[in-house]
Amino acid sequence: MSLQYMLDNNVSRYVQADTLEELAEKLGMPADALVKTIDDFNSYTDGETVDPLGRVAFSGIKIETAPFYAYPRSPAVHHTMGGVLIDAKTRALNLSGEVIDGLYCAGEITGVLHGANRVGGNAIVDFVVFGRIAGEQAAKGE
Ligand SMILES: Cc1cc2nc3c(=O)[nH]c(=O)nc-3n(C[C@H](O)[C@H](O)[C@H](O)COP(=O)(O)OP(=O)(O)OC[C@H]3O[C@@H](n4cnc5c(N)ncnc54)[C@H](O)[C@@H]3O)c2cc1C
Repeated sequence: MSLQYMLDNNVSRYVQADTLEELAEKLGMPADALVKTIDDFNSYTDGETVDPLGRVAFSGIKIETAPFYAYPRSPAVHHTMGGVLIDAKTRALNLSGEVIDGLYCAGEITGVLHGANRVGGNAIVDFVVFGRIAGEQAAKGE
């Protein structure tokens, strides 16, 4: 899908503008804040200024040549780490590690598989594999 297609068909609400001020207006955000953010970013890319957030891996490409493109984004929860402890049969365990009878858990509600970081794609395998086991275990009542 090309950028032009996205602009022509309002995909993801992409907007195009010849100035940053016009871009800000189309996005419904304060123009001075956007211009300052871009100015600051540009100054970090060539090491002119040290990024206060400590980022160093910039491409070296400044955002300064029109036309400018943007689309609105908002934060969302992607995956919640941590959760109910289960055993290999998906039986929920209490704080002492004892099985809680009749309670089976799988997927994102569990907190066993991913450790401190989740590798992309693992969550789907997690709920497919352990969801099946949980269903079988619950049907057998084991
Ligand atoms: C935008 C986005 C992109 C993602 N991309 C990936 C990816 O590429 N690869 C990957 O591995 N993971 C990805 N994830 C994470 C993954 O989708 C989730 O971790 C996974 O869907 C969790 O599956 P789940 O079955 O445990 O929970 P859910 O998918 O949240 O299912 C829980 C279900 O329970 C239902 N429910 C809730 N309360 C009740 C109730 N009281 N009674 C009955 N039903 C109820 C809900 O409606 C829901 O259908 C992504 C997540 C997001 C948000």
